[in-house]
Amino acid sequence: MENRLPDFGRRAFLDQDELARASRRLENASAEEIVDWASYTYGYGLTLSVSLGGAEGMVLLDMLWRRGTNAHVYTLDTGFLFGETVKFREEVAERYGMEIEVVRPELTVAEQARRFGDALYNKNPDLCCYIRKVEPQRRTLAGYNAWISGIRRGQTEQRANTPIAAWEDDFGVAKIAPLARWTSEQVQDYVEKHDVPLNPLREKGYRSIGCEPCTRKVAEGEDSRAGRWSGQEKIECGLHSRSTWLTRIPAEKSRLLNLGEDEK
Ligand code: SF4
Repeated sequence: MENRLPDFGRRAFLDQDELARASRRLENASAEEIVDWASYTYGYGLTLSVSLGGAEGMVLLDMLWRRGTNAHVYTLDTGFLFGETVKFREEVAERYGMEIEVVRPELTVAEQARRFGDALYNKNPDLCCYIRKVEPQRRTLAGYNAWISGIRRGQTEQRANTPIAAWEDDFGVAKIAPLARWTSEQVQDYVEKHDVPLNPLREKGYRSIGCEPCTRKVAEGEDSRAGRWSGQEKIECGLHSRSTWLTRIPAEKSRLLNLGEDEK
């Protein structure tokens, strides 16, 4: 698809107050209007993170493509993704003819096991998410001014007050949520109307799809995110919540790195 929006080549910076004002102004705007606003405002400073597991990220990717924006698109590859998700990533890049930057953690899965012990996702999932998601995301977002994300208010209690636009302190960028007000039905309608491709694992009973060790199928009528970290207290990976654990994890990581092999 040809770019329809003019390429300003600009990278605006909006502070916390300016973002709060913009957020109020955009509260009743359509998702497309919010995407256009973000594209005009941030130009090359705008990036979209897409997990390739949920429908929301795919809706936004499709919307950005249809609006002809030049936003950067990236996805995190933790090394624990389902094979189906990795294959789907290639299919999506081909279908939309766009480059999707694949961002990986500094440590391979084997290096992480050597330093922190096997199956860290069972013993300390917060640390595992920190190393494999939060740190790589922080590195990536350091190169951008605004991050566009598919989170919705209806997804979890923690996301219920998601603003359309806000300063995201944890990552040092503006965070834009064009689908914040959308219901799951609206997401589904968009998918059907525009024939948006979705992760094939959804056909097998998965709904919100993340890393293989931390994702299970959900039963009929169960919440779509019930399959994430099932059986654990954990409900967020740290990418979308101002989690208190984000502040304690760096010290914990250093402490574990200094332990002997048999103590891990
Ligand atoms: S979702 Fe699970 S495997 Fe993936 S980074 Fe988090 S704890 Fe590790």
